[in-house]
Amino acid sequence: MGKHIQVCGHEVLPGQKFQQMVTIPGTTFQTPVTIVNGIVPGKTLYIAAGIHPGEYPGVAALTQVAAQLEPAQVTGAVILLQCVNYEGMLAMTDAVVPEDGENLNRGFPGDADGTLSDRIRAWLAAEMLPQADFVIDLHSGGAYEPLTPCLFFPAGNGETMRETALAAAQVTDIPYAIASYATDGHYSWAAKQGIPGLLLERSGDGQCPPEQVQAYIRDVHNLMIHIGVLQGEMYPRTVPLQVFEKTTYVGTDISGFWYPEVCIDTVIRKGDRIGTIKDIFGNVLAEYFAEHDGLVFYHAGGHVVRGGFSNLVAYGAI
Ligand SMILES: [Zn+2]
Repeated sequence: MGKHIQVCGHEVLPGQKFQQMVTIPGTTFQTPVTIVNGIVPGKTLYIAAGIHPGEYPGVAALTQVAAQLEPAQVTGAVILLQCVNYEGMLAMTDAVVPEDGENLNRGFPGDADGTLSDRIRAWLAAEMLPQADFVIDLHSGGAYEPLTPCLFFPAGNGETMRETALAAAQVTDIPYAIASYATDGHYSWAAKQGIPGLLLERSGDGQCPPEQVQAYIRDVHNLMIHIGVLQGEMYPRTVPLQVFEKTTYVGTDISGFWYPEVCIDTVIRKGDRIGTIKDIFGNVLAEYFAEHDGLVFYHAGGHVVRGGFSNLVAYGAI
C-alpha cells in the first residue's frame, strides 16, 4: 500500500485526490494544496510555486497540472503547493508576505512561534518537506527583474546530491544550471536535510507569457516521469544544459536611480561596465564593472534600487 500524506490535520489516503485551501497551523493564513496520492507505492514528489508572489508562470503551470493529475496516473504521490504565498499574490506584494514584509525563501526552517513568515516556513519545514523524496520550486524574476530561463541546483551538499539534482535538471528544457551554496531557502534547506531538489526560473518582470507557462508544464511533466511518479513519454530537450560553477551576484549599499547596461542571455566581458547608479540630478553615485567574462542571467530592471539590494546583476562565469 502507498503512503498516507498529512496536511494540516487532513490525511490523504492512497487513491485519493485532495484539493482545497488549508490554514497553516498557528496562523489564519490560507494556501491552496493539491495532493494526488496513487494506489501503487512509490516516491513522493513535492512541487511548489508562488513563494514569491510576483512570480506568475509557475503558479499558472501548477494550477493546470493540479487540476488534471489524477491518482490513477500516479505511482507514489505528488504534493502540489501551487501558490504558497497566496495572500501575498492577491495583495500584489511582489516578493514578500504582506503582514511582516519578509521574503519567505530565506530563514528556513522558520519558527512555529515566530512571525507569520516564520510560521509558514516552520509548517513547510516540519510537516510538508519531510514527506518529499524530491523538491521542485518554481520561480521567475520579480516584478522588475528580467530573467532568462535558468535553474539552481544544490552544490554544497556532497557529490551524490549534486549528481541527483543535475540528472533531474537534464530532463527540463532550461539551458543554464547554476551551482548554489544557499542553505536557508525553501529547496536549499531541504537539500541540507538530504532531500534533493531544484529551483527553476522562467520569465520575469511580472509577466506571465503563455509559452513560458507551457514550458513549465513540460518541465514538470518530464520531472514527474524522471522521479517515477508518472509514466509516459518525455518532451525532448531543445537546448543543451550548461553548468555554471561560479556566479557573481552584484549588490549595492546605495539607494538611487539605476541605469543597467546589460541584457539577459548575453555575454559580458571582464571590465565591461554593467550599470550605473545616479542621483535624481544625474550625478553618478556608483559604477559597476564585470569582474570576469560572464553570461547574464537576470538583473534589476526598474529605475530605482534600494541600499541592501542584492541582485543588481547576476552573471555566471564563462
Ligand atoms: Zn523567486
